[in-house]
Amino acid sequence: MTSPSEELSHLSSKGLLRSLREVSSPHPPFITIADRELLNFSSNDYLGLSQHPALIEAATRALHDYGTGATASRLVCGSLDLYHRLEEKIAHGKKAEAALTFANGYATAIGTIPALVGKDDTIILDKLAHACLIDAAKLSGATLRVFPHNDLNKLEKLLNSSKGRTLIITESVFSMDGDRCPLADIVTLKEKYGALLFLDEAHAVGVLGPNGQGLAEELSLQPHLDFQMGTLGKALGSAGGSLAASREWIDLLINKARSFIYSTAPAPSQAAAALAALNLLESPEGQKLRQKLQDNIASFKASSPIVPVILGENETALAASQNLLEKGFLVPAIRYPTVPRGTARLRITLSAAHSQEQIKALQKAL
Ligand SMILES: *Cc1c(COP(=O)(O)O)cnc(C)c1O
Repeated sequence: MTSPSEELSHLSSKGLLRSLREVSSPHPPFITIADRELLNFSSNDYLGLSQHPALIEAATRALHDYGTGATASRLVCGSLDLYHRLEEKIAHGKKAEAALTFANGYATAIGTIPALVGKDDTIILDKLAHACLIDAAKLSGATLRVFPHNDLNKLEKLLNSSKGRTLIITESVFSMDGDRCPLADIVTLKEKYGALLFLDEAHAVGVLGPNGQGLAEELSLQPHLDFQMGTLGKALGSAGGSLAASREWIDLLINKARSFIYSTAPAPSQAAAALAALNLLESPEGQKLRQKLQDNIASFKASSPIVPVILGENETALAASQNLLEKGFLVPAIRYPTVPRGTARLRITLSAAHSQEQIKALQKAL
């Protein structure tokens, strides 16, 4: 049996060792690490909401009104009115009948997918889907079929030969590439074959759509989706995860989603901050922040706030990231298994909190 130290040195020899960097102050667009203030191009706080006064005030008020913790599972005694208001808000934004919230996006995937399909069913998953979707698919026990990234022909072939309840799982904006799924075509296929569609909007919420609800809202496709997943921890600046669906599916999840049933409800302050963020998204200020983000995306000639710079080798990506760090920019190197082998990269994330000057400075450094 290999020891932990052998495993660690093996990772290190492959350029795959990861370690934590202690952050003493995160104030977008800056971040302080080891007493150095860096420009942060690594967070998913696309609108800078994690430091917004409206969110801080809502969370503070909830701390006073509800205390620091929910103390039990929602099914035991912790189903605070705050979660119900938050879920109504999410459902409304998603044009769905109902929604359910979880401690985070990971717990949402792990809890919901195995409750939706089981061993007699089929999951059809995009090759570049997020780790939590892959883990959830494996946990479900359903037959797992994977199609090459955004490959509609292969998706249709798999739909043609699937058994049982069939769940297509993909992302609207892919987390490490920043590109989109061909949602309208996927909806056409799912309807043709009577499959269910599960869309993870983690990186599109706050960014796309007239009210910042995501790609499905932008394309007016929300009513065609069976499951709209999101995180409250990225552009919404809080923490938590959500799934919007029909009332019946949500009622079933309340009975079957193990990460919901067997887990203490999220901190009330976290739900309050998320609710404030959702209110902000549809306000004129939300509109303005999204426009500012779009301007920043345009000045990078990118198609989303996620800008990958693919370098190939792990060591190359690590060296580039280190080099930028020395110049005052935090841009992470992303390696296997987060991305496929041989596609190590810098992952730049843009935010409405960045100024044009800061973006130009990064471009110059790159
Ligand atoms: C970050 C992420 C998640 C997980 O959400 P958390 O709230 O951070 O747990 C799920 N899906 C995608 C695509 C993500 O990027």
